[in-house]
Formats: sequence, structure tokens, C-alpha cells
Amino acid sequence: MKRKMIALFLAASLAACGGCGTARNDSDALSSVSYSERTAVSEASCASSAGESASAAQTAPVSVAAETPTPAQTETPPPTETPAPESDEVTSETVAFDPNWTYAGNSQIHAGTAVLYTAKPSLRKNITVCVNAGHGTEGGENVYTLCHPDGSAKVTGGSTAAGSTYAMAVAGGTTLLDGTPERSATLSLALLLKNKLLDAGYNVLMIRETDDVQLDNIARTLMANNLADCHIAIHYDSTDSDKGAFYMSVPDNAAYRAMEPVASTWENDDLLGDSVIRGLSAVGVKIYSSGSLEADLTQTSYSTVPSIDLEVGDRASDHSENVQSTIADGIVQGVTNYFGQ
Ligand SMILES: [Zn+2]
Repeated sequence: MKRKMIALFLAASLAACGGCGTARNDSDALSSVSYSERTAVSEASCASSAGESASAAQTAPVSVAAETPTPAQTETPPPTETPAPESDEVTSETVAFDPNWTYAGNSQIHAGTAVLYTAKPSLRKNITVCVNAGHGTEGGENVYTLCHPDGSAKVTGGSTAAGSTYAMAVAGGTTLLDGTPERSATLSLALLLKNKLLDAGYNVLMIRETDDVQLDNIARTLMANNLADCHIAIHYDSTDSDKGAFYMSVPDNAAYRAMEPVASTWENDDLLGDSVIRGLSAVGVKIYSSGSLEADLTQTSYSTVPSIDLEVGDRASDHSENVQSTIADGIVQGVTNYFGQ
């Protein structure tokens, strides 16, 4: 009962998660946080009360109860001004879009907020991973943003044709063959990934934890640029062959690779992508072809930190919790491969 109350308190103090299915994932994670906390607290109080009763037992074994209310004993506790040590728990803060960020003027949708989780002090690596659950911006398909910061045209085709200078601010995403919207499948995986990254000591910038966030692809990317050390966007591809996981690599196009911030970032984008594919492969996730496919995306066109669009499967892929948990393990391994810790 006590544990439940603490878990509820923590659930309330961390950012609330909406959407069906997500509450369970989060409360599971919070229970494990609260359990270790509770253990630490009860051990500490056990130690101090054991010490007190031991000394009482030596002096007057029979009259312990009679001694406790004396004024001398109530004054003995240490002064309360002693600073409490930092508690070993995950903390979080809400973060908003900053209109002063580089390229901020190119974003059209940025009223929403993200959540920055900081790993427990005992595990903390001081590396922040931006986890971006693809899609999930209501109305995002009706608003258009510049494909490239300098206004140049897209060099590859995809959901937006090559040669276009504008693309949807956030596309609606596909629908998996069982009827699940892509935005829901990417969200459930993102929530699993968040907890595993925190358990591994990474801080996590969660772009979206509910069905909708009013942040377009440029805003999401700028948040990662300014608040994280890398950016992983999660997607399911629109094919229906269950072809396996891959990431969108930076196109082999001289003009594109010469454009900033792509010029300064693309090699690290691809290194991160290769690391994540190796991690996924190591846990047995099926990999498509060589594990990458070239695409000129808004995300990587604006990224100043290593950044990938990761297609973890397609419309035909199993997106059950078990399978997504394995995928999340693989991504954590990939992140670890990339940062070397
Ligand atoms: Zn997608």
C-alpha cells in the first residue's frame, strides 16, 4: 500500500503520459524507480532506529518505552540545516521551443513542449538522446515548411518529390496492416526506449509522449540540436513486406553534402545510423538490405547533432510489446556503440 502511494506520488510528479497503453508502460517504470527509492529510505530509517534502540538496550533493557519521551532524547537528532544528499532518482522538466535557436524561423508549428528526463545520478553518463516518436502532430500535414534551411530543393524523392522546396510540416504517417496508426506504434516503442535509455544512464529528450504534440519536424530537430547529443526519430515504413529495419542515410549528392548544417553533420549521422543497425542486428532484429537507404529528409537537413530517421519495420511488422522491447534493446546497444559508453 505504501509502495503504491509512493509510486502514485512519483507518477504525479513526473510528466503525465496520456494515450491508451502508455500509462501502463510508464507506471511500470515508475514502480521500479519508487521501489529502489523506498528501499533506500526504509534502510536509512531502519539503521537509525536500530542504533537508538541498541544503545537504549545497553543502558536500560527493560524501560525502553519509558525513556523515549524524555526531552533530552527529542533534542538529540542532528540539525535539520544539513543539506540532504541528492536523491538517486530520475528527474524531468518540460522544455519549450526557443525562437532564438538557429533556423527557428523556418518552423511553423512549435507551440507544444517536450520533456527532458535526466538519469539517476548513480547511473548518469551526461549524454542526452532525443527520442522522437515519428508523426503525431494534428494538422501538420496541412502546413508546409522549407525542406532545406537555405531554401534549396530536395535532392531525392519520397513522400515529397525530388525538386520540391517545401514539404509537409509533419506528415500524417502510414497505417499498419492491423489498423494501428504509425504514430501509435512509434509512440509505444519510444516509451519503451525512454525507460531502457534511462536505465542505461542516458538522459532522454522525449519529443512526444502522447498522441499529439504541436511540434513540426523542424521544431523537433531544433530541440534535439539544442538540448541533446543525438536524435533518433522512430518510424514504420509504408511498404508491407516486413522487410526489416534500416535508417535513412544522407544522400550521396555533392551539393547536398556541402550545404550546412549537413556538411558538418552528415558523417556522424551515418556513423550513428550504422551503430544503431549493428545494435539491432546484435539482438536479432531483421535488417533490410545493408541497413540504410538514402533520403533527403527535413530532419537531417536541419540537424547539427548526429541524427537518424530509423525505420524499425514496416506496415506488416509485428509491433507487439515483446518485439518493440527487443528493438529498444538494440537501439540502446547502438547508442552505446556510438558513444563508446
Ligand atoms: Zn513515418
